Amino acid sequence: MQDGIITKSTGSWYNVRLEDGQIIPCRIGGKFRKDDKRLTNPIAVGDKVKVETDVDEEGAGAIRKIMPRDNYVVRQSPRKKHSLHLIASNIDQAIIVTTIAQPKLKQGFIDRFLLMTEPFNIDTVIAFNKVDVYKEEDIDTLAYLQGVYEDIGYKTLILSATKGHGLDDLKVLLKDKTTLIGGQSGVGKSTLINAIAADLDLRTGDISDYSGKGQHTTTFAEMFELPFGGLLIDTPGIKNLSFNYLELADVAHNFREFFAASSDCRFGGSCLHRNEPGCAVKAAIEEGEISELRYFNYLALLDEVDEQNYWERRNV
Ligand code: GDP
Ligand code: ZN
Repeated sequence: MQDGIITKSTGSWYNVRLEDGQIIPCRIGGKFRKDDKRLTNPIAVGDKVKVETDVDEEGAGAIRKIMPRDNYVVRQSPRKKHSLHLIASNIDQAIIVTTIAQPKLKQGFIDRFLLMTEPFNIDTVIAFNKVDVYKEEDIDTLAYLQGVYEDIGYKTLILSATKGHGLDDLKVLLKDKTTLIGGQSGVGKSTLINAIAADLDLRTGDISDYSGKGQHTTTFAEMFELPFGGLLIDTPGIKNLSFNYLELADVAHNFREFFAASSDCRFGGSCLHRNEPGCAVKAAIEEGEISELRYFNYLALLDEVDEQNYWERRNV
């Protein structure tokens, strides 16, 4: 049996990097498949596994064991609304690539992404790409959003993948770490990765090739070795980010500044900061200490999770 790490998953096949650097295709060969019925995929990119090599003539291996995960990132499966999709595991940090230019930044997208990384306190950096085409009002929006997120402890980066702006900062951040990178389709994530690691040669959704939609060509998360040290887990462009199997309190507890303030709510950690009396979060918003934007996005997420749970618990 050899130790390995999952670098790619296509559903039934997995690529596993062995300790000597060799990558071999593997199938699942163990009982753990049924461990958690809510998961569409029992194994994620980043998982540390034990594999038996050379189980068939083609040199494929069998995954016999998944080692316990330090952390993981999970979302609602884009295809099955009652299932969970494991995106990646054992990561040091995450980067959300966004842009204020094309495509339009979806309201609440950043906060949804943070809801995936916050449960394990995974450091998350918010990158604003395509700064080369920002108009004056975009620069104002940028400054506003930087203020909102830096105030609550998230790092931000200002980038232009095409003009090379900020790429050195990005490299410093990625060096020798395992980083999950994600974002809406078309924000320039592939262009960024190609700009810092040309050898990887990811396909980019060039507007001339794909009828202006910035369509993404990858379907599965994949881990790459960075030429300057570090591992990058690239995820497919995200259209919608939804959640399931969450309690309302999970949402409340993972808006970090709300959680910090909740010790002063009359109902403490069980306060959902909606209309409860003596709510310290609402007081802090009135004082301007907590961002209204975050609160607005929070309420929308609460409502969504509420509705989702209503249907989930009736099993329809
Ligand atoms: P992905 O879906 O996030 O991987 O996006 P792509 O890397 O495929 O890029 C989508 C489009 O945005 C392509 O036409 C890129 O050339 C363009 N793009 C990427 N980065 C930048 C940038 O920094 N500035 C500008 N102006 N365009 C960019
Ligand atoms: Zn409260």
